Amino acid sequence: MKTFCGRANPTTGAMEWLEEDENYDYHQEIARSRYADMLHDKDRNTKYYQGIRAAVSRVKERGEKAIVLDIGTGTGLLSMMAASAGADFCYAIEVFKPMANAAVKIVEKNGFRDKIKVINKHSTEVTVGPDGDMQCRANILVTELFDTELIGEGALPTYEHAHKYLVQEGCEAVPHRATVYVQLVESKRMWSWNKLLPIHVEAEDGEKIIVSPSEMENCPGVPSVCDIQLNQMPLSDFTILSDVVTMFSVDFSKPVRSASTYYRVQLEPVKSGKAQIVLSWWDIDMDPSGKINCTMAPYWVKSTSAFQWRDHWMQCVYFLPNEEPVLQGEMVYLTACRDEYSVWYKLQKARGEEENKTDVHVESPVCRCQAHLLWNRPRFGALNDQNRTRQYIKSLTKVLKTDSVCLCISDGSLLPVLAHYLGAKQVEYFFLVFWSLHFNLLFLFFKANHLEDKIKIIEARPELLTSSHLEDKKISVLVGEPFFTTSLLPWHNLYFWYARTAVISHLTSNVTVLPQSASLHMMIVEFQDLWRIRSPCGTCEGFDVQTMDDMIKVRRLKIVLAQVAAKQDKTHLGLKKYLVTVEKFVLFKLWVLYKVTGSDPPPLPRKGKSHGAVLWMEYHLAADISVSTG
Ligand code: SAH
Repeated sequence: MKTFCGRANPTTGAMEWLEEDENYDYHQEIARSRYADMLHDKDRNTKYYQGIRAAVSRVKERGEKAIVLDIGTGTGLLSMMAASAGADFCYAIEVFKPMANAAVKIVEKNGFRDKIKVINKHSTEVTVGPDGDMQCRANILVTELFDTELIGEGALPTYEHAHKYLVQEGCEAVPHRATVYVQLVESKRMWSWNKLLPIHVEAEDGEKIIVSPSEMENCPGVPSVCDIQLNQMPLSDFTILSDVVTMFSVDFSKPVRSASTYYRVQLEPVKSGKAQIVLSWWDIDMDPSGKINCTMAPYWVKSTSAFQWRDHWMQCVYFLPNEEPVLQGEMVYLTACRDEYSVWYKLQKARGEEENKTDVHVESPVCRCQAHLLWNRPRFGALNDQNRTRQYIKSLTKVLKTDSVCLCISDGSLLPVLAHYLGAKQVEYFFLVFWSLHFNLLFLFFKANHLEDKIKIIEARPELLTSSHLEDKKISVLVGEPFFTTSLLPWHNLYFWYARTAVISHLTSNVTVLPQSASLHMMIVEFQDLWRIRSPCGTCEGFDVQTMDDMIKVRRLKIVLAQVAAKQDKTHLGLKKYLVTVEKFVLFKLWVLYKVTGSDPPPLPRKGKSHGAVLWMEYHLAADISVSTG
C-alpha cells in the first residue's frame, strides 16, 4: 500500500504530495521519536524492572496468576521484564505496525514466544473474552505512555479505557502513580520565546520603540508545551519566585478520568518579582510505597539529576497568559487546567478562595494574535534578540536611500518597521506576504505602530507579483531576513533566493539585495550525551533488542549534503551579488569538515569521536555585517 505525504517544498514554498511506501520514513520516525534514547535510559529501565518484579511478587503472594497487560509495548521490553519476573502471561499491545512486527521478532529471539502475545492494535480496539484478543482481564497493568508533559501521548484516555474494559478492579499498576511538580519563576530569556518585547531603535531623530499589538500582549498563546532540558539552563537565566509544589498526581492503579479538569494550589512567593513562567516536571513511583522513584526534577531540585541525561523526557516551560507582579509573602493561586492531552496554567492573586474558584475556565487557550500560530519559540527568540536587530539596523541604514522603493520578502518580518524608523521617511515600502494569516498579523503590527498607511502589504506569491501590486514602481531595495515559516532546516530560508529570482522583472538594474549572500557552515562535533538517541543498544537490561537497532538506520550525512548540493542547480540567477552565493555553494561541494573558507579544511583541533555534524547558515547583510542562525 502506498501513502501520500503532504510536504511544503522549502525551495519553492509550494505544497507538494509525495507518494511514499507504507513503511517509508517510519524508521526515521522511530529514530526521531527517541526510541533509542528510551532504551539507553538506564535509570528508567532499572526502575521499571524493579517495579514490575515487585508487582508480580505481590500478585503471586496473593496466590493469583500474574496476567500482564503492557500497553504500548514498543520493543516488548516491559513484557519481557514481566515474563522474566515470573508473570504467567503478557498481552503486549502496540498500535504502530512496524514496531509491533519488531516486537514479535524480539520476543521470539529472546525465547518468550509462549509467554507474550503481541497484539498490533490500539488498546481501545482490544477485545477480551474466549474469542477475543485477551482471554481474560489482566491484573497487572504496565505502561510507558508518557511524554515530557506526562499526558501528551494520550496516557489518560488510554488508562481510562483500560480500567473500564481490560484490567481487573484492584489491579497492580506499574508505574503506580505519577506526580506533577511546579515552580514559579521570572525569566526574561524564557519569556522572550513567547512574547515580543519592545524593540528599541536608535534613529537619527532619537530612540524609537517598536511595540507589539495589544492583541499579542494579552494573548494566552497556544496550549503546546515548551519542552527543554532545564538541566542546561543556568541559574542566572531565571529567578525562582516560589518553592517547588505538587500540582497534581494520578493513581494508575485506580480508574482514571481523562475529562478536562483543573487543579489549584496556593503559593507563597519567596521573592518579589514578575511571575512569567511555570516550570514543571514529574516523577513516577513504580510501586505503591514510593520507594522506586524515577524523577525528572532539574539539578537545582535534585543535584544528581544533572548526571541523569535523557532526551525523551525533559522538563516543561509553561508561559502564563500575562506577566503578573507578585510580592514576597503575598499568597497567589496557581491553577493548572488540563484536557486529555495538554496542560496550561493561570495565576491569580489570592482573594477569597471561593471567589477565585468561580473564575476557572477550563477551555483550552486560543491564540488571538496569530503570532503564536505563525512563529515558533526560536522565532520569537530571534525577533527579541537585540544584537541580531542591531545588525539589521546597521545594514538597512547602509542600503536605504531617500528615494528607495523597498520590497520585503520574509514571513512576518519587522524589517520594514525597522527601516521606517531609521529615518528614511520617503522610502516606499511594499511587503510581500503569502498567507492571509501573515497579512493579519502584520496589519496588527503596523497598526500598533501607526504604520498601516506607510507600508503596503501585498498578498501574493512572488511568481504572481504584478506591476499593479507595486503601483508600477520598480524595486530598488529588496530585503529579507530571510525567514519563512515553511523552513525547517537551516538552508531552507534560501527560498529567498528563489523568490528574488521570481520577482526579477520588478527590480531595477542596480537593485540592492539584502542579504547579499549566504553561506552554509558545518562543524563535526563530539556530543557528551546526545549521541545516545541514535546509538545502537544491542541489549537492554539483558534482553536482545538488536532487531530494533537494525530498524533505526542512521542516515548518512551524505544524504544531507546531497540535498544542499541539489540547491545549486539553479540557472536563473541574475544578479552579480548572488553569484557570490553560488560560488560559496560550489565551494561547499568541495569542503568536508569545517567552515566554508574557500581553502582546504583545517586539521581537527583534537582527537575524539565524531558523533555528528552541526550545520547553520550565515546571512551576509552588507559588507562586514552578518547574522548567524548558529
Ligand atoms: N513500552 C516500551 C515502549 C514505550 S513507547 C518501552 O518502555 O520501552 C510507547 C509506545 O506505545 C509506542 O510504540 C506507541 O506506538 C505505543 N502506544 C501508545 N499508545 C498506545 C495505545 N493506546 N495502544 C497501543 N499502543 C500505544
